[in-house]
Amino acid sequence: MKDIFDYTLEELEAFLVEMGFKKYNASQIFDWIYKKNIFDFSLMSNISKSLKCFLNDNFCANLLKVSKVVRDEKSSKYLLELSDGNKIECVLLKHDYGNSLCVSSQVGCNMGCAFCESGRLKKVRDLSLSEMVLQIVTVEAEECIRIDSVVVMGIGEPFDNFEVLKRFISVITSPYGLEIGQRHITVSTCGLVPKIKEFASLNTQVNLAISLHAGSDEVRNKLMNINRVYPIKDVFDALDFYISKTNRRVTIEYILIDGINDSEKDALDLVSLVKGKLMYVNLIPYNETSNFTFKRSNEFKINKFYDILKKNGINVIIRKNIAGGINAACGQLRAKESA
Ligand code: SAH
Repeated sequence: MKDIFDYTLEELEAFLVEMGFKKYNASQIFDWIYKKNIFDFSLMSNISKSLKCFLNDNFCANLLKVSKVVRDEKSSKYLLELSDGNKIECVLLKHDYGNSLCVSSQVGCNMGCAFCESGRLKKVRDLSLSEMVLQIVTVEAEECIRIDSVVVMGIGEPFDNFEVLKRFISVITSPYGLEIGQRHITVSTCGLVPKIKEFASLNTQVNLAISLHAGSDEVRNKLMNINRVYPIKDVFDALDFYISKTNRRVTIEYILIDGINDSEKDALDLVSLVKGKLMYVNLIPYNETSNFTFKRSNEFKINKFYDILKKNGINVIIRKNIAGGINAACGQLRAKESA
């Protein structure tokens, strides 16, 4: 059985034509599953009997199994079970301006960042297109809501699953698919330089975020293995290329860890990298987890770090800790379940 959610519109068109059906049948099917949320092919009233039979014989259209949901006032964290029993997470955040979903791109992660739960659970495999798209479709169905924006910032390194990521963006932005605006999608990477350049060349309006977490190679090497492969200078060259191609502002993510990357010097290192560039710094107080000894910087240090950036003319915000109470920091719920 093939999964209908494993196809982009173009792929489904090509397949249906090959099987003797019409190209436009693909957009009809997309309309049923993504717009009308009808997943039973027999109920798709505008398609022929023979196509219904063909779909029933060859395709399935199942949502992901919800293994657990943890909620607080403004967020819901879903632990979802895949057909092979692996589990992934996604987090729904309800803002005044709409619903945002943080999706995973892999089962586990191989990037090995020293502070991150997802990396403690080594990569088992990449997610398929259906497994990425179904995080959105499943949460929409469970909550009876529409997702307005998507951040690919859950478990995994999206640029380590690049081909699927591209097809995922195609499905969720398609006018016949979920029709989420490109500017409402953000992809976060730890800094895979060749993929940043490839992403820049895709010519989309999708936002890019970089997990920087340090302004010098000395500090970053300690926190993120990937920095030994792609040091900060290479990452920023790639970001300059991205900005020149897209004219889109890049988000720099910087978690603040007590005594590790939160000194005055650290702040000034960051200033020298970002100053004058089309970049925006997101300061994120570290979410402590029981598996690591890292501590969150205290309020005083966070504010001081922020002030140094502000004084130097950097666009910066401190990201509020919306979902920390439900273990929404990267990989935490899954880590707990398998502990
Ligand atoms: N691999 C991608 C996306 C997944 S991680 C990336 O590195 O960007 C999503 C973000 O959560 C990253 O910025 C990551 O560094 C951060 N993160 C991981 N553990 C965290 C924690 N305990 N507290 C706060 N942020 C954390």
